[in-house]
Amino acid sequence: MQRLNNKALLRDKAYINGQWCEAQSGARMPVLDPATSEQIATVADLDGADVSLAIDAANAALPAWRRKTAKERAALLRNWFERIVAAKDDLAILMTAEQGKPLAESAGEVMYGASFIEWFAEEGKRVYGDVVPTHAADKRVIVTKEPVGVVAAITPWNFPNAMITRKAAPALAAGCTIVIKPAEDTPLSALALMVLAEEAGIPAGVINIVTSSRSAEVGQTLTDSPIVRKLSFTGSTAVGKQLMRQCADTVKKISLELGGNAPLIIFDDADLDRAIPAAIACKFRNAGQTCVCANRVLVQDGIYDEFIKRYKVAVEQMTIGHGLQGTFDQGPMINAAAIGKVEELLNDATSKGARVVTGGERHPLGEAFYRPTVLADVTPEMRVAKEEIFGPLAPIFRFDTEEQAIQMANDTEYGLAAYFFANNLGRVWRVQEGLEYGMVAVNEGILSTEVAPFGGIKESGIGREGSKYGIDEYVEMKYVLIGGIDK
Ligand code: NAP
Repeated sequence: MQRLNNKALLRDKAYINGQWCEAQSGARMPVLDPATSEQIATVADLDGADVSLAIDAANAALPAWRRKTAKERAALLRNWFERIVAAKDDLAILMTAEQGKPLAESAGEVMYGASFIEWFAEEGKRVYGDVVPTHAADKRVIVTKEPVGVVAAITPWNFPNAMITRKAAPALAAGCTIVIKPAEDTPLSALALMVLAEEAGIPAGVINIVTSSRSAEVGQTLTDSPIVRKLSFTGSTAVGKQLMRQCADTVKKISLELGGNAPLIIFDDADLDRAIPAAIACKFRNAGQTCVCANRVLVQDGIYDEFIKRYKVAVEQMTIGHGLQGTFDQGPMINAAAIGKVEELLNDATSKGARVVTGGERHPLGEAFYRPTVLADVTPEMRVAKEEIFGPLAPIFRFDTEEQAIQMANDTEYGLAAYFFANNLGRVWRVQEGLEYGMVAVNEGILSTEVAPFGGIKESGIGREGSKYGIDEYVEMKYVLIGGIDK
């Protein structure tokens, strides 16, 4: 943390109603550097009673915030965006320190996260209603869109900045106030964003950050509250389902961005010069810990051996290290337990006949480091075919026909992102139409951008973030009928 230009960005208290505050119990929780397991900070560890105060603060701030014009809210959001961009390097240092991803990736995430604030500052001005052609001469029909109210956001550790801005920006732009619970592992990025929001002039109570290690208790408080009218959650499918059940009693509006099992399909007619680096980025960025990482690499017969040969060379060129100590392609995983899951999946696959092409073991740098790994001859019976790996392990499956590739790709309860590489125009159309996914990338390995709707189908979630559609998640439609027009 010595390297921070602006040390004021490092905060250790929660933020409720415009105040930096401790838990009422006085409890604190540690924040660790995943690369070394060393404690880098402690922060306030809130409980349900503290979170209730945050909900009340968001509720109290709501009337004034929703009364502001979209243009006034846009000016404040724009100011927040500019401060984040100016603080990019410090925010990246904080993120790498608590999350582990290489510094360049952290800086990339800061800019990606900021792009949602810029985007929704603009989109907030375009929340139009309708005047509907009337059904009766003495009546008029109009539709307006209103902020949904107090929003709760629960976010994961793998994108400590962008998963927050992707929710807070459209919520604020629409006129909602928000209570945010960042992941226990990565509270510092959330608190630093709050410092900049406060400096930008976002009023007290509009954003509240509740840091906590008691995720179930906080989740229960947020979902039980009748004041909270909307939950936006990004995280695992299991927790998403639980929160969806909890929201049923108060019939909240919900958005869920959940897990994935992304196929990356390489057809015979793929351009391997393009596909290989894309397949590296798609699989190994953030040490494989993203919901849209390629989870299964499906390669067509005719190109199978050639692909594996070239992929192996490219994977073996990747550099690994502590993100604050140099420029590396891959950092640690979030903790040693995450490696345990990767090892379990690897052992299951090799016991059933898969072959380790490269990697397949821990890295001597530390207990959270794992070598980028490629497994060949993987089959649908192996656990890697069904489960989200969430680590630097690329399992390669072989297929014969286009139909078989589509069938294998869709053979999962998930439906977030899918990727394929092909050049035949007819095939490109047929395959993209056949894939049951919320997002499909053709001849690209990275698809996230603020201008496009991000989200999944099936058990990967409900709703979309970003794009002109993203703000719909934070507004309710109101139909107004005006009668007595003709006397
Ligand atoms: P997670 O365990 O579900 O945690 C996500 C968030 O939920 C964290 O803030 C966590 O708090 C909290 N949480 C955990 N149990 C809870 C409960 N019972 N009630 C309320 N909140 C609870 O997921 P993760 O391991 O952090 O994140 C990885 C998952 O997120 C993967 O499945 C990944 O695919 C998914 N993800 C999806 C997207 C997307 O856009 N679709 C984006 C990123 C990640 P604590 O961490 O403090 O326990």
